Amino acid sequence: MKILYVTDIHGNEKAYRNLFELGREKGAEAILIGGDISPGFDCSGQRRFIQKFLIPRISDFTESTAKPVFIIMGNDDCKSNMELLEKADKKGMLHFVHQKAVAFRGIWFAGYSCINTTPFLMKDWEKEEKLIARDLEALSKRCDMKRSVCLFHAPPFATLLDVLYDGRHVGSLAIREFIEKKQPLLCLHGHIHESMLMTASIADKIGKTVCINPGNRNIVEIDLRKPESMEMVIGEE
Ligand SMILES: [Zn+2]
Repeated sequence: MKILYVTDIHGNEKAYRNLFELGREKGAEAILIGGDISPGFDCSGQRRFIQKFLIPRISDFTESTAKPVFIIMGNDDCKSNMELLEKADKKGMLHFVHQKAVAFRGIWFAGYSCINTTPFLMKDWEKEEKLIARDLEALSKRCDMKRSVCLFHAPPFATLLDVLYDGRHVGSLAIREFIEKKQPLLCLHGHIHESMLMTASIADKIGKTVCINPGNRNIVEIDLRKPESMEMVIGEE
């Protein structure tokens, strides 16, 4: 199964247009969006964007192609707007998978938005590591992790995917330990935009699990039979 993954679009309309266009062109079986979906930090502005731009674009794609879109929010998305995605999910327009797992063609798609505590501004999605560990344990009971693609906004701690501009590793230890123990089929992350620039890598391995953080707005095409041979399309400014 071929999927397209993108994260941290932060409301860039052109990036969304490119994503759905590429999804059609490549005949992707599914599109996954890894959080930080809306622009700016103002909740009513974000709400308008999700209502007027994002949900119509997604439902247009899923209706015309019959291919699913799996989406989570990230730490820069106001949680108060989550209900918009939940409603769109109920109408069958998209799969909002925060703390949920959805099966599609023999693969589970499991999502989680929360991040470990950071100095960043918005706090809606921050949690202590031990609470993240507890949530993920609960999530793992809803699916078969060995056949799961995990869509987790925060990257695992001390990898090529969680390096800040100052060289510090700021990923989640609970997420790392979860991947070590459960060994999902594939893990998709975001959150730390600059990590790929700092480490010159968009992928790392924890045990047998390939983990990917492609940076903001870059689209990755992944064949789930061989996730290591991914292809990246650089996002435009
Ligand atoms: Zn971001």
